[in-house]
Amino acid sequence: MRSKFSFILALFLVLSLVGLGAGAPAAEAAKPVKNLILLIGDGMGFGQLTAARIVKGESLYMDGFPVVGTASTYPNDPQEKWVTDSAAAGTALATGVKSYNAAISVDVNRKPVKTILEAAQEAGKATGLVTTTRITHATPAVFAAHHVNRDAEQEIAVDMLNHNVDVLLGGGKGYFVPAAQKGKRTDGRDLIAEARSKGYTFVETKDELNKVTGGKVLGLFKSSHLSYELDRDPAREPSLAEMTRKAIELLSRDPDGFFLMVEGGRIDHASHAHDAAAAVYDTLAFDEAVGVALDFALRNPDTLVVVTADHETGGLSVGGYGQYNFKPEVLKAAKGSFEDVIAAKLTESNVKEVMAQYTGVTDLSAEEVKALQEALRNKAKDPYGAANFAAELVSKRALVGWTSSGHTGADVPVFAFGPAANSGVT
Ligand SMILES: [Mg+2]
Ligand SMILES: [Zn+2]
Repeated sequence: MRSKFSFILALFLVLSLVGLGAGAPAAEAAKPVKNLILLIGDGMGFGQLTAARIVKGESLYMDGFPVVGTASTYPNDPQEKWVTDSAAAGTALATGVKSYNAAISVDVNRKPVKTILEAAQEAGKATGLVTTTRITHATPAVFAAHHVNRDAEQEIAVDMLNHNVDVLLGGGKGYFVPAAQKGKRTDGRDLIAEARSKGYTFVETKDELNKVTGGKVLGLFKSSHLSYELDRDPAREPSLAEMTRKAIELLSRDPDGFFLMVEGGRIDHASHAHDAAAAVYDTLAFDEAVGVALDFALRNPDTLVVVTADHETGGLSVGGYGQYNFKPEVLKAAKGSFEDVIAAKLTESNVKEVMAQYTGVTDLSAEEVKALQEALRNKAKDPYGAANFAAELVSKRALVGWTSSGHTGADVPVFAFGPAANSGVT
């Protein structure tokens, strides 16, 4: 079940959603699935989950799911054989076909493969994509675009808009507008104006989103990725749970049912940066979105909720440095992420003050201060070096270990609730 699980899971999800249950590898006849909510924690391995649960001080919503499994995530890529990126892993989840790292729902021969979102549309269902990253980033892109390279986000934005997804919520306004409108498009196109002419309501604040009561909606709340949960301004930027709630409210009006993908996309970014607090609080924000989906499924028993990850990032361990302990209180003191908030404030002369104010760390040794100052002096050569080093100083005190600045090939969790929840796990 483990090595082929993501194929079987994706294939089963497609078949169950389009009403071809007879072809699914179900051990017993499952009730038909009307609605499918797929939640993906990007970079969320078991370590991120455990750390988040301990910091929260109680069970996660994910912990209560009746079906729990694991999935291996390796791509079909001879160069990077055992460790996937989000594009290949997302392609496997969206299409049931494993491909090479960087593939956006194309197979190893660069041919487009049908996605579960496209199958849902063919079955007359409403569709939605919600993320904390740019909406054109790999994980959402694999459901509503096909491209040989994940980095072609200008073209991916056009493809996603052409897919007529009913609800698109996330970041990445920059790839929708040209330079004249502070955007990144080099072809002069204004995709927001084009979306409006296709019938979309465009929103860019939480209040504007709250006012949407129907129809297709495009919500882009930042130029690039949305804020880490630690840094988010709750007055302006909706949380992942709030976006999920609105998406379900809008999509659930379709009598044929809906497919919704929700991504906690920056657990991955925080884990690349070894920012344990940012990773934990984004995992908790993702779990809140899982709670919203679960709440809907409890009231609508024809809804299947599946929660998983595309891969683990960072090799995060709960406990490290040879010690049999973990210090959640260190992470609870965090006032912002290193990447987006603390790094910009650190200078050679204020290392002790900024670390005390934003991380609660007040016991920096003279050597640690010197090394951080050195990293700050080298900022031109290594722009992330100082932030990463400072984040490691916190990890050391929290006893969070890291083994890589990239992804790892470790198996990831799978949780399922609802009709057919058991059917992929045989
Ligand atoms: Mg992602
Ligand atoms: Zn990553």
